[in-house]
Amino acid sequence: MDAVSPATRHRPTSPDAVRRRALVNRLNLTTGFGLLVARLGRARRRPGPEGLILAEGYRLKFPIAGAFTVGNVVLTARTFDELEASSPGVLGHESRHAWQYYRLGLAFFPLYGAAAAWSWLRFRDPAIGNVFEKQAGLVSGSYVESALHRPQRRRPDVRN
Ligand SMILES: [Zn+2]
Repeated sequence: MDAVSPATRHRPTSPDAVRRRALVNRLNLTTGFGLLVARLGRARRRPGPEGLILAEGYRLKFPIAGAFTVGNVVLTARTFDELEASSPGVLGHESRHAWQYYRLGLAFFPLYGAAAAWSWLRFRDPAIGNVFEKQAGLVSGSYVESALHRPQRRRPDVRN
């Protein structure tokens, strides 16, 4: 069944497609790079859904995000159980980033950087106008709710 949850826009993926993604992201070196980042951040690894590798307890301060994905590796400073409880659908969001690596390989990094810069210039926010985040679903990645990605509020026009 191909039900799409309206809450997360998560579309279950066939096992074959998931295996193909894991293979391609290994061959295009992005998963290997993600494993290296996980090791540098001293994260604990465990297998996740859809062939993803979950890396929890990531200790480095960059990037500033609840979770982020490199190849098939999804990293967080917390645990994914905590993260899913506070931001339901976050793994579906990160899984869509893994598909972006599948399509773009290492070119993801400069293209994502350019999209984040463009978004920053327009909105003073790296995610709101970022085509990669929009495609992955901003809300399910908790970008809209998170303090980091909340669009800046206008100060009330107070006059003395
Ligand atoms: Zn994202």
